[in-house]
Amino acid sequence: MLFHNPNLADIANKVEHGERLSFDDGVRLFRSNDLSFIGRLAHQARVRLHGKKVYYSINFHMNHTNVCTARCLFCAFARRPGESGGYTFSIDQIQAAVKKAVEGYRINEVHIVGGLNPDLDMDYYLGLCRAIKEVAPHIFIKALTAVEIDDMAQRFKLSWEQILIQLKEAGLDGLPGGGAEIFRETIRRKICADKTTSKDWLEIHRIAHRLGLYSNCTILYGHIESVEDRVDHMLRLRALQDETKGFSSFIPLAFNAENTPIQKLGEPDGYTDLKMCAISRLLLDNIPHIKLHWTSLDLKMASVGLHFGADDLGGTNINEKIMHDAGNETPVDMTEDKFRTFIEKAGFEPILVDSSYATV
Ligand code: SF4
Repeated sequence: MLFHNPNLADIANKVEHGERLSFDDGVRLFRSNDLSFIGRLAHQARVRLHGKKVYYSINFHMNHTNVCTARCLFCAFARRPGESGGYTFSIDQIQAAVKKAVEGYRINEVHIVGGLNPDLDMDYYLGLCRAIKEVAPHIFIKALTAVEIDDMAQRFKLSWEQILIQLKEAGLDGLPGGGAEIFRETIRRKICADKTTSKDWLEIHRIAHRLGLYSNCTILYGHIESVEDRVDHMLRLRALQDETKGFSSFIPLAFNAENTPIQKLGEPDGYTDLKMCAISRLLLDNIPHIKLHWTSLDLKMASVGLHFGADDLGGTNINEKIMHDAGNETPVDMTEDKFRTFIEKAGFEPILVDSSYATV
């Protein structure tokens, strides 16, 4: 057989029969150097779920503020309150920017994340959702990470559930998957000590799922985490998904190093990017979609990733800022036509969706 690896034959057998992989299986896959074999397995699993389809949205990134009280070591975006370079957009500015993106790019989704800005009150966040729905009622609003929800709950003395209910009533459709980073507490304390704990991040998504909000989940890889930490992270997500079935997609995020306090660590290589993509498809058997954030990888690597387990290229990511502040040079004005051609050239069928995966 052309693709055979006796050391991974038992894992291949499990994948073949739709059996769940264990923690040890995940670690063994990461320790193996047989990338083409692992990729083949992941592609098999991906084709079984989605055939030749590749999902995408036409989305606009809005980073409403970069002012943040936290100091995550992998972040090049945030500015301390009062620090030069800090900004906060008004609701009117955001509404005008979204209106322009609707008219110019026919976007079907906005992705909104920002810093933990102590000057923003609940009216600001509710106004943000209402203002977007006012100019574009059809737009899917994917906004505010679990970390931002937690920060709001603490500052406004409300429960996570109360915050999410109010936001949903104002027009919020789903939560992005950011802020998960790495769940293993020893690593989390080192790279983002100020952030919501792993347990709380998962609990906020559990509540969001119960309220009928869509949500994604992520991992930030390629810094100081071990392969065991990666597998541990994915299995904590898998356990929550068994319970709620609320995650739509998993997004492996490559660490972009430039301008961050841990820049000297460098960035993950293409080999690691493809392994992350393939192994996440194999381990996360209950999360429907593996989404590549092509802005964090670059387009070339993302097109290969579609053959290594991924079925979703995220969005056109118009106006993306967070990765670009960390040195990323991918385009910020991607059109739908270019995106579709890109997917077709990789051998797949582009399907326009929003984060609910309803076809448009
Ligand atoms: S990653 Fe988010 S929470 Fe952390 S410093 Fe950057 S903006 Fe703030």
